[in-house]
Amino acid sequence: MNLDITTGLFIDGDHTPASDGGAFPTVNPANGTEIARVAAGTAEDVDRAVRAARAAFDDGRWSRATPRHRKQALLRLAELVREHTEQLAELETLDVGKPLAESRRVDVAGAANCLQWYGEAADKTYDEIAPTGPGALAMITREPLGVVGAVVPWNYPLIITAWKIAPALATGNSVVLKPAEQSSLSALLLARLAVEAGIPAGVLNVVPGLGQVAGQALGLHPDVDKIAFTGSPEVGRRFLQYAGRSNGKQVSLELGGKSPQVVLADCPDLTAAAEAIAWGIFYNAGQTCNAGSRLLVDSRVHDELLAEVVKVAESIVVGDPLDPATQMGPVADQGQLDRVLGYLAEPAGDVVTGGTRIRPESGGYFVAPTVIDGVDNASRIAQEEVFGPVLVTTVFTSEDEAVRLANQTRYGLAAAVWTRDLGKAHRIARELRAGTVWVNTFDAGDVMTPFGGFKDSGSGRDRSLHALDAYTALKTTWIDLERS
Ligand code: NAP
Ligand code: MG
Repeated sequence: MNLDITTGLFIDGDHTPASDGGAFPTVNPANGTEIARVAAGTAEDVDRAVRAARAAFDDGRWSRATPRHRKQALLRLAELVREHTEQLAELETLDVGKPLAESRRVDVAGAANCLQWYGEAADKTYDEIAPTGPGALAMITREPLGVVGAVVPWNYPLIITAWKIAPALATGNSVVLKPAEQSSLSALLLARLAVEAGIPAGVLNVVPGLGQVAGQALGLHPDVDKIAFTGSPEVGRRFLQYAGRSNGKQVSLELGGKSPQVVLADCPDLTAAAEAIAWGIFYNAGQTCNAGSRLLVDSRVHDELLAEVVKVAESIVVGDPLDPATQMGPVADQGQLDRVLGYLAEPAGDVVTGGTRIRPESGGYFVAPTVIDGVDNASRIAQEEVFGPVLVTTVFTSEDEAVRLANQTRYGLAAAVWTRDLGKAHRIARELRAGTVWVNTFDAGDVMTPFGGFKDSGSGRDRSLHALDAYTALKTTWIDLERS
């Protein structure tokens, strides 16, 4: 492998060290070894990046470029991402432990597709004229907000970065991105590719660093117009506080989830459902915000479904994410391993499979695909986001009880219903408080549909044309035609 690892901050088109020379290690979770030391941005560095972004915004090098010009640069960036698939996929896999084939197929391809989609949208979205009558012309135009701070987690570093920066850039904003500590490498390469694609220096800046230092400095910065955040509910609330304490900047929040899989007795195909349910939690070692971490199942089909889910869980090849045979890699770091094992140490139900750390001799942070049956939906493991390969199962005996259990959570990101009866599916889908409801499938989605949550899962939506609203403000220009 011939990896080109860049570790400096990326500000105003150049890689630079942190102002105090500080750096932090980024670790390969498959074996616990250090990959590189990444520059740790300070508040001073964040300020430098925000000033570069503001200067770029104010002089119009991107904010006043034609939408067609922005489209062309974003399409070129999408192409460059595709051309660098191997490099980006390897960086992502080394940094966070995703199986390499998935990093290519899902993460890199998904990021490229998202950049392309918003690039294409740039010169195809129209503004409005209000129906004032003949004496006036009232135009309603969308204007970029200015400097957008994007703060992202480590579970899908490239994809979530693309979900934020693609609509932000397509609409003419400048961006300062703070990746998660565990996963800065792919974003640093992406920023360099952006300049190569023709996005002018200063428009996209990347400042890796600690949340409490660089993340906080971005949240509190008086010249940042908006924070687009994905991460935990606790840190999301901090960004609301930072906004309140500084300039009242806009904040959109994509937070966690505890998504229910609701399986009714007339589920059309239990084997197919079991496959989707298992991968809905074990994909990415359970580190997916919308992971289907709670299985709510009608008592009449419980035994058969559970046996099928366990069969899939036990067939999953867990191993080195660089090995093409591997289907599930480690969790992202030591902290995440401790967190997952902490939940597993609490008695909550019958551990039907898994329940332990595996492959410790590798030095990596591997957890066996785990299914725990007979779990009280009010227990900690059924209410809190474990963010690991752990499925908990609860039975119900009526549709009402199923809906009540599904909604008995602080979260509202996603849910699925499995039934042959479309009337029931619609009824239940309406009652579920979730930003996405799947029927007889799980995790189907596309950049063309919105993604985000209700309740503690946040506010605002990534993806789709609606996301353009999150990076623009409406301006009314009212012209009196009689006096003009
Ligand atoms: P996190 O701890 O909330 O961190 C997210 C980002 O915030 C990181 O860049 C982090 O930097 C930064 N941060 C941490 N503390 C901060 C502080 N005090 N001030 C400012 N910034 C701070 O979340 P995570 O553990 O990385 O990610 C997992 C969470 O993300 C889960 O809850 C998951 O459900 C959620 N998620 C949601 C979605 C969605 O679309 N709804 C998608 C993916 C993930 P450091 O890396 O330095 O801590
Ligand atoms: Mg790492």
